[in-house]
Amino acid sequence: MTKTLDQKSQVTDASSESILGPLPHELRRHLYYTLGHHRPNGDPTYYYRALAYAVRDRISDQWQKTQDRFAASDSRRVHYLSLEFLLGRSLNNAVQNLELEQPVREALQQYGCHLEAIAEEELDAGLGNGGLGRLAACFLDSCANLQLPVTGYGIRYEFGMFHQHIENGRQVEDPDHWLRDGNPWEIERRESTRTIKMYGHTQRVMDQDGAMRVRWVATNDLLAVPFDMPIPGYKNQTINTLRLWKANTTDIFDLEEFNAGSYPEAVAAKNTAEQISMVLYPNDASENGKELRLKQQYFLVSASLQDVLAQWVKKHGEDFTDFGKQNCFQLNDTHPASAVPELMRLLLDEHKLDWDTAWKITSECMAYTNHTLLPEALERWSVSLFNRLLPRLLEIIYEINERFLAQVDELYPGDVELRKRLSLIEEGSEPHIRMAYLSIVGSFSVNGVAHLHTELLKSGLFADFYKIWPKKFNNKTNGVTQRRWLSHCNPPLRDLLNETIGKGWESDLERMTALVPYADDAEFRKRWGEVKLTNKRRLVEYVKKHTAIEFPEAAMFDVQVKRIHEYKRQLLNVLHVIHLYNRIRRGDTEGMVPRCVLIGGKAAPGYHVAKLIVKLINNVAAVVNSEPKTQDLLKLVFFPNYRVSAMEVICPGTELSEQISTAGKEASGTGNMKFMMNGALTIGTLDGANIEIREKAGAENFFLFGLDAAGVVKTKQNYNPNAIIAADAEIRQVMELLEGGHFNKTEPGIFDLLTSGLRNPQDQWLTIADFRSYIDAQQVAADTYADQDKWNRMSILNAANSGWFSSDRTIKQYAQEIWGVEPLDS
Ligand SMILES: *Cc1c(COP(=O)(O)O)cnc(C)c1O
Repeated sequence: MTKTLDQKSQVTDASSESILGPLPHELRRHLYYTLGHHRPNGDPTYYYRALAYAVRDRISDQWQKTQDRFAASDSRRVHYLSLEFLLGRSLNNAVQNLELEQPVREALQQYGCHLEAIAEEELDAGLGNGGLGRLAACFLDSCANLQLPVTGYGIRYEFGMFHQHIENGRQVEDPDHWLRDGNPWEIERRESTRTIKMYGHTQRVMDQDGAMRVRWVATNDLLAVPFDMPIPGYKNQTINTLRLWKANTTDIFDLEEFNAGSYPEAVAAKNTAEQISMVLYPNDASENGKELRLKQQYFLVSASLQDVLAQWVKKHGEDFTDFGKQNCFQLNDTHPASAVPELMRLLLDEHKLDWDTAWKITSECMAYTNHTLLPEALERWSVSLFNRLLPRLLEIIYEINERFLAQVDELYPGDVELRKRLSLIEEGSEPHIRMAYLSIVGSFSVNGVAHLHTELLKSGLFADFYKIWPKKFNNKTNGVTQRRWLSHCNPPLRDLLNETIGKGWESDLERMTALVPYADDAEFRKRWGEVKLTNKRRLVEYVKKHTAIEFPEAAMFDVQVKRIHEYKRQLLNVLHVIHLYNRIRRGDTEGMVPRCVLIGGKAAPGYHVAKLIVKLINNVAAVVNSEPKTQDLLKLVFFPNYRVSAMEVICPGTELSEQISTAGKEASGTGNMKFMMNGALTIGTLDGANIEIREKAGAENFFLFGLDAAGVVKTKQNYNPNAIIAADAEIRQVMELLEGGHFNKTEPGIFDLLTSGLRNPQDQWLTIADFRSYIDAQQVAADTYADQDKWNRMSILNAANSGWFSSDRTIKQYAQEIWGVEPLDS
């Protein structure tokens, strides 16, 4: 018997305390009484909201039970601290995980609505920039799937990642007011409000037992109010929590001002406090240095640590002996690194522990994940800013540093250079705190996010630390959740998989290897191709709707979607499109495989070169798509406003996945994994998780090109792009088209910055160095595509071997090797 498809049995077995009626009734009730919408007029937003409430109600009892179960257990608890959670939409995810699809469809039927159309009404929760934020969301999904006692902590930004639209080929940013119509997926928990201190100064006072204590006084206080979002596990009665903090003013008005007639000024103070959770910083892989950003970081950290400590004290009183063993804070990059000094502060100043005890606890429970090797992304905060905003934390950081450097001195006596290199404080006219170093010193675990990335951390960026603490360093190759990135977003493939290998792959992706033998089955390959065609048609419609360009469905769908960044080399992709366009113009089209190239992604608003690359893509697209000769042979589109819900349509319809970063620069990549699962073949460099993808898929099922990480380092010593251009006629012609203004006839000179960058011997990204190799690998890909049967075989083998890239695998490794937690079964 199917377990819960029938909503009647659902209600009865939801145990005695459930007071929910059948779903059609609950939908109507919310429509009428929650939303006051008694005369449904077909406006789909009302159906979406009513349905979301009805589904949330179904979550509620299980959610409470899960939290009770966690509270009753003596398991260690994990707290995943992240400035970003790129969740996307929640409705379909909840419907899938709670097995509510049938009853939901029936409930909507009374209004003649379809789930697909209603689900489109939900705005993405875009509380993240890209890979790092989406990783946090996939991790929470896997933790709930594995029934691990893990809570996410983040910020409830009023405005998430900006919306991007294109005007005259250029990116324009619009604010993302995702909470405008309310958020049915959150529950406010005012009773757990915390107070956050900033500014002020410190004082030393003798306490009753004669110990010197530090007080942080004359502070500006604000409130952190938690909003909880449910994270439903997959068909397992487990609902984990993502707790997001909203900044609020303290209700206590400044009475003096109040009485002096400054009532409006006192009330207006509310604004300054609320600014802290107002907007997500839209910079991916670059540090920021702005005061408001540091406030956001400290706000998240202090609220979350106080929350965990308050729960501890409630259960254990002021006995912190086991706190470090019973808790783990996973820091998603250095953004929450002030957790190290903040936990010290709370233990020392608020809970009166001595330094050694507090330090033992802190370094027992902090774990740090590094996400980048790019020097421009490494966070450093000026000492003077820290001193003004967080004076007590700065004192603690100084003491941590002093004690750490004393340790270094003991290990390497007299090595002054080493001391300088390892200091948490970077000296200079304006001294800075190195947040990565603070994280390493304060943590028991430091991990990279792909094999190559971790090796490069150990041999490069963190080599000195690796020498001191080799055991701290470990690798956790990233993953993605197959519930969203396969099962939910690709129903035709989901059905084919269920029919072919049975159902278990949704929580055990290694089972996909059962597909391997089917790669040799001609009939199955044909069906595989039909599934891809169905998904391509959906993508064709989607692209047409958002760009007015129609992709011919027989062409190869070649896709690069990710943040726009020089290291990701969207420019290399465009150069290749120009090369194909040039071949068509000169009549060299014999055997050419028709190709549709889709590029999408947001550029940080202040990142001039990235925005210029967006403009170039659009200008090249305008020329290529309007040239009669290219016809069905070549199309290029820039897909606007790339986000989670767009990727859910794009990745199932993709045939060739572009993962073409300069080797050594992409820590892992996770877009590459989503594509692989959905049967795309990868064209890529030996960078990040591409290396592991190629190992798992087999080298013969991967289109490799370009320099490897060591080759990049070597080539930089004496790089001569102009000589490469001069020696290769095809590359030369591409540069001539670009530099001759072929794509900017009415806007002379606008791309000079890009072309001079390509020709610059100092070009960090070595685009021209890899161009010939890229052209050749693209030709191999095209030749392979011409043999559809062969392509389908390779596609099947990619999907079949994608099991390693499930975030379930990643999270099992975190749980066993870092956190030391086990599933708490329901
Ligand atoms: C997966 C994902 C990313 C990460 O893509 P990469 O190719 O790994 O950089 C970024 N943004 C969104 C919306 C995603 O879904």
